[in-house]
Amino acid sequence: MVVTQPSRLLPALLLAGLILAPSPARGTLSLRDETLIKQAVQTMDRDEPGRDKRIFLAVNIRQSRLIAATGGRAAWTEAASPGSLAKIPLVWHLASRGRLDSGYAWRCTGRFFPRGESSGADELIHEDVEDPARGQYYKCSRLKGHGLVSLSEALSVSCNHAFINLHDRLDPSAWRDFCSASGLTGSACLGELGPDPATGTLDIPACPRDRFLMPLGFGLRVTPAGVAAFFTSFFSGGTVRTLAPEGSGQVGIRVGHVPLTPLARSSILQGMRRAVQSGTAKGLGNPGYSLLAKTGSGLVDGEIFRMHGWCVAAHPAESPAVLFVSFVRESYGGGPPLVAIRRVLQELRTSGFR
Ligand SMILES: [Zn+2]
Repeated sequence: MVVTQPSRLLPALLLAGLILAPSPARGTLSLRDETLIKQAVQTMDRDEPGRDKRIFLAVNIRQSRLIAATGGRAAWTEAASPGSLAKIPLVWHLASRGRLDSGYAWRCTGRFFPRGESSGADELIHEDVEDPARGQYYKCSRLKGHGLVSLSEALSVSCNHAFINLHDRLDPSAWRDFCSASGLTGSACLGELGPDPATGTLDIPACPRDRFLMPLGFGLRVTPAGVAAFFTSFFSGGTVRTLAPEGSGQVGIRVGHVPLTPLARSSILQGMRRAVQSGTAKGLGNPGYSLLAKTGSGLVDGEIFRMHGWCVAAHPAESPAVLFVSFVRESYGGGPPLVAIRRVLQELRTSGFR
């Protein structure tokens, strides 16, 4: 038996560690990382219930390339309402147009009266009411209200009223152009994934209700791959690229650029960070990773109570390298879509991914 002195062994071990475990530059993923992510997504998809309702994408942000995808072609051919995910492009869009500043705050009482309060009895408005009257109100996700919220707090707790209040700052055609140019609804980013990618759509408001609820994603329909392209654009400083297919080894090709102001960037990053720490995505917290996330629940077309659920997460929070987009039909953002991401993160931790 050969006994090596610890003092001689230690430098050798350190050197071996350096050689065996090359540390990639911040924000980049090694081939091994991608393999672990793909395996984690496959395990999640095999074990978690509701596979037939789920579309799950993992993206290498730096390369703008899919690492793993479940749910087949529907990822780029099936469009649904993004619900509160739309608040992220909304903040980017309005801040970049100088229509939103860092001091924006809203005092949420739980009730938003689009036509003002009346002296009579108040009445709740359902989403099928096309022209709200004085004295009628929308309720926020927290019935008692969120109190005074900053922009990033409003994003993290998904205070709908802080965003409905921005409805008159939003020009529908400029909003539609932004959604297309940023990759959210444009098909330019999706052409490499397969034939006939669906463009997302934005309906121009047909009634006062559509106008009031537009900041909440009303009238908007997006594909999971469009959402992936959009967040890849955001984490790439506004550079919009194609999404290269899974296993292609290709890098996404630049198709445009959307200016991203420091205010928009920092508000969104802070909002997504807080969502994990104490907001709507806190169910993702503490899996051992620093994350950014946002949930969303969008109405099923033509319905007022049934929803499709979304959850988006990026890791690491300081310099995102991997993006997860999780969509589950007939669910809600903080439920099955979030659970799918949490399961992938648990699998990654078990596999030694850092
Ligand atoms: Zn609120």
